[in-house]
Amino acid sequence: MKVRTRFAPSPTGFMHVGNLRTALYAWLWAKKNDGVFMLRIEDTDQARFVEGAEEMVYKTLRTAGLTWDEGPDIGGDYGPYVQSQRKDMYLPYAKKLVESGHAYYCFCTKEELDERRQRVESEGGTFKYDKHCLNMPKEEVERRLAAGEPYVIRQNVPKSGKADFDDAIFGHIEVDCAELDDMILIKADGMPTYNFANVIDDHTMGVTHVLRGMEYLSSTPKYNLLYDALGWEKPTYVHLTTIMRDATHKLSKRDGDATFEDLINLGYLPQAVINYLALVGWSPGDDREFFTLDELKEAFSLEGLSKSPAIFDHNKLRWMNAEYIRRMDGADYFKAALPWLEKAGVGDIAKAPGAEDIIIRILQPRTEVFGDVAGVVGFLRELDESYDAELFTNKKSKTDAEVSKNVLDAVIPMLEALPAWTETALHDALIGYAEANGMKNGTLLWPVRIALSGMTVTPGGAIEIAALLGREESLRRLKLGRNKLE
Ligand code: GLU
Repeated sequence: MKVRTRFAPSPTGFMHVGNLRTALYAWLWAKKNDGVFMLRIEDTDQARFVEGAEEMVYKTLRTAGLTWDEGPDIGGDYGPYVQSQRKDMYLPYAKKLVESGHAYYCFCTKEELDERRQRVESEGGTFKYDKHCLNMPKEEVERRLAAGEPYVIRQNVPKSGKADFDDAIFGHIEVDCAELDDMILIKADGMPTYNFANVIDDHTMGVTHVLRGMEYLSSTPKYNLLYDALGWEKPTYVHLTTIMRDATHKLSKRDGDATFEDLINLGYLPQAVINYLALVGWSPGDDREFFTLDELKEAFSLEGLSKSPAIFDHNKLRWMNAEYIRRMDGADYFKAALPWLEKAGVGDIAKAPGAEDIIIRILQPRTEVFGDVAGVVGFLRELDESYDAELFTNKKSKTDAEVSKNVLDAVIPMLEALPAWTETALHDALIGYAEANGMKNGTLLWPVRIALSGMTVTPGGAIEIAALLGREESLRRLKLGRNKLE
């Protein structure tokens, strides 16, 4: 049988990394088995409609490289792929369940339910639907339906016995029917609940493996009662552990780094995020850590999935991202860094002739995430002129205020006379001067770099910084530094 998996996000407008990981595992399992990966939008909760949310799902999956074989935008043999467009498909199944006694119409109003709930709770109990409408005579049901009374359809869970299923990771899961609520299948607005729609859709869309979040594990026995009632074969269930921030807290959207978008906005590479996510809750069985999507496809197995909650370690992701950046081809690095340099206000500097090589050389080794770039290059955009003249004094370079003043006095006219402001010309002039005057390179370059940056630690040295800043700004800064040493 051809493997068919699905990713079934509710369009919330963002993609929690936990959801993305579910998509990744479902994709990997389908692709590993030459199967089909299908996208289904679960939008039956119309109150939670978010404009543009569907686009967001597409964009995220595309950026992550998880292409789908069937879905709302491309169609397929099992459409429609948006639940609200499947609306009319659910009621006939619900009616079939009513006929076979596995479901029933319920006309209880919200007020009636609230009143009964309060009564039970005031006696210290937990309310579950009391099957009030289960034994309503058929004629009364017909009459009330004909009169247009609002209704829902509920599952008729047996009063006793067990409901169970076998999970690929968690094994046999069993619950007492007595503990289960007669859940709503069709809501008053005619829409199915998730609880009903997932069963009908997974079956009618030919899904063979259901990979989804752990939060559905305890409801799955209930779903299986429906499969049995409809005489359908069950899919293989694979429930995935929750992604945690630490031992006791779930990774939450509130923290600003739990969605795919958050991570991309912080400057993580999609490939690094996907690589890291694959390892949060799955192990290849050896100590390999770096995988392309294709390599993951080869290595992935259900056996490697973890039973215990997985912790999302931002430091580990950061380390992995830095590795990805370090391994980038220089030109690719520059292309990826450019939007961040532009955001930091140094786009023009980065795009000037000769700058690309310098940027790659000085920034690539020190970029862990692209969001770091702005902080590192800020001094190129603007010199913090209030820096302390003490910075010119440095034991290792054998500089003090006096030496620095002399250096700058010599260097400024020499650079002013430089015919071409290139890295090579700057290098030859400065290093040539040091040599000709028997001076250590450091003694010459320290004051120059301090004047150019106002900082003791910079990406790149004096020559690289001068080349990036250009003639006018470099000379302005050098003179300003010189004036501090009066
Ligand atoms: N729409 C559900 C969610 O976003 C999907 C659950 C499932 O995969 O069955 O959580």
